[in-house]
Amino acid sequence: MVEPRSRSTTPTAPLKLLFVSTPVGPLGTGIGGGVELTLQNMAQILTERGYQVHVVAPRGSTLPNATIIQIDGIVQTPAQTQERTAPILMPPDSVLARMWDYTRQVQTNYDLIVNFAYDWLPFYLTPFLRTPVAHMVSMGSLTDAMDQIIAEVAAQAPATIGVYTQTQAATFAFFDQCYPLGSGLDLSLYQFCEEPGPWLCWLGRIAPEKALEDAVAAVQATRTPLKILGQIQDTAYWQQIQQDYPDAPIEYLGFLPTKQMQQVVGQCRALLITSRWVEAFGNVVIEALACGTPVIAYRRGGPAEIVREGKSGWLVEPDSVSGLITAIGSIDEIDRVACRQQAESEYSLSALGDRVEQWFREILCTRL
Ligand code: UDP
Repeated sequence: MVEPRSRSTTPTAPLKLLFVSTPVGPLGTGIGGGVELTLQNMAQILTERGYQVHVVAPRGSTLPNATIIQIDGIVQTPAQTQERTAPILMPPDSVLARMWDYTRQVQTNYDLIVNFAYDWLPFYLTPFLRTPVAHMVSMGSLTDAMDQIIAEVAAQAPATIGVYTQTQAATFAFFDQCYPLGSGLDLSLYQFCEEPGPWLCWLGRIAPEKALEDAVAAVQATRTPLKILGQIQDTAYWQQIQQDYPDAPIEYLGFLPTKQMQQVVGQCRALLITSRWVEAFGNVVIEALACGTPVIAYRRGGPAEIVREGKSGWLVEPDSVSGLITAIGSIDEIDRVACRQQAESEYSLSALGDRVEQWFREILCTRL
């Protein structure tokens, strides 16, 4: 793990940055998951600090107060839906290929390119480009092809591999080359709610790796109402859950923008995180804490690094529905003020901005 140095006092002129977005869907749709929020938050804090940030993204993307270059083309298949030995997949008219063709053409207008795609092509192209590329790796190890190409870039260009957490880095053989960035939020967008209603909530992409069915089984057993929010990424999976638990007290509210989403989350007694995979971070965990909502999560991946046992929630044996049920029974022991305080002290946008600026400095110094 590359240890971030303390904040350098060397003045550096604000840089010109080109952010190249995830190719799995337009920004603002939720198809890209937490990396959409991470890109938005990094763009916001760096723009506030005087950097010039331009964003290349699939057509249809929205991002507040940002210059977006919209690119046409067919979106990529998300890596988490593929087998470990899967070959690299590229559709005809690939938006990923077009975003990087655009990047190649304009690269010399920028000091640094930041890649947010968990995909093979940007890593492969890195040594062919004149402008350095920082890679925000948003998931743990999923396929052999991705592991191999990220390892090659990590070996050639030290410090360019940014990750969220140590747990995520540990899924890769090159974990000691990864640069930990954590995450952060514009906390002013999340209102603290002291008196929640009777509900629990579950928040995220509706896809098998998130194991929503475990949360539904737990609320069926405890007869606690559950609000479900997020993009339906796998329709057959969602229909199966509804068939398997026809009487569960669940309500699906769709994918909501942050303003409405945080209102719902704040009114809930706890957020349930039931991921079957190693969650790289779990932006929804810190979003819930920012609203004062405790988190019940399996002791696995990023959420296990964030949740403070007994203080901001409960960590449960992975894949144990009975563990979830016990934790739901103990949720009122958690002080909601302490949850908000943890978000403020550890996950501010300003702290994220400091870490990202330091990361960029290390990359650019290494290139000199
Ligand atoms: N999200 C949202 N509205 C919703 C449900 C989810 O904006 O109704 C966002 C949420 O803010 C978070 C993302 O979806 O940023 C999910 O990201 P997370 O890091 O938790 O998981 P990922 O999808 O990346 O695996």
